[in-house]
Amino acid sequence: MLSLPGPVRNSESDYDLASSSRRKTNRAILAGLRDTVMESYRNYSGRARMPELNHFDDDDAEKLRENYNLTYHKGSLSALRQEIFEISTYCALCGAEEASTLDHYLPQESFPEFSIFAHNLLPACDRCNRKKSTRYGFEDTGRFAHPYLDDLKPNGAILDCAFAVEQDIIHAMFNVKHSLPEAVQRIAVYHFDKLELGGRYSAKASMEIIEDIGLYEEAYELGGAQLVASEARRKRNSLLKKFPESYWKVALYRGIETSDVFCDGGFRMAGSLVAFE
Ligand SMILES: [Zn+2]
Repeated sequence: MLSLPGPVRNSESDYDLASSSRRKTNRAILAGLRDTVMESYRNYSGRARMPELNHFDDDDAEKLRENYNLTYHKGSLSALRQEIFEISTYCALCGAEEASTLDHYLPQESFPEFSIFAHNLLPACDRCNRKKSTRYGFEDTGRFAHPYLDDLKPNGAILDCAFAVEQDIIHAMFNVKHSLPEAVQRIAVYHFDKLELGGRYSAKASMEIIEDIGLYEEAYELGGAQLVASEARRKRNSLLKKFPESYWKVALYRGIETSDVFCDGGFRMAGSLVAFE
């Protein structure tokens, strides 16, 4: 759940550029849809409320979706794709994997009018993209966090991380905090559950901890649990120079810092988990 600056892009020009790159018959169809699409762009809030659903006929919807093909290599909108990837090298949905695909925040299947709308395109990892698929949710029942439009930073930490030992292996367990404002919590829980972030962060955390076991061992020998905790605090503070409190690794190091069992030698029980699919 990252908050990112949105793309700086003239989406009206992108639509016109796309239209002018299409064959004559398609160009005429897209010209006929232009006013509706521009109106949708103006109303775009990223918050999938039903009234924002347009009902295009199948053929029109298809022509709108096909515009997205122009963002691929050598297409007339390849600069749009490039600009989205320049926003973040990390996936905007999980913040844990590298961004390798573009995700449509409002999926093209239901919202073809936003197929090339810059604010609807997120740098995402393949796993999040697949798990998100055609889902989008609703304001009153929960939806995905929008990295450009939802500013989660004022809420500070979104995730809690605690440690538990099971069969001699220590696990980091992540959860959405209970103390968040209701509307923020609804979004965070939906986002966290649908993308299965709990298991994925836990697996990532194990790898992260294993890499640092030597460091914790050294700190433990020198100053016991207290020094292990201060090592975690140091790492958290350095992350906070680049990332917001809502970042999953910040939660991890806060969890380590406050876990007696981890700091008092429990780090030795870190075991690799099979990456969660
Ligand atoms: Zn991701």
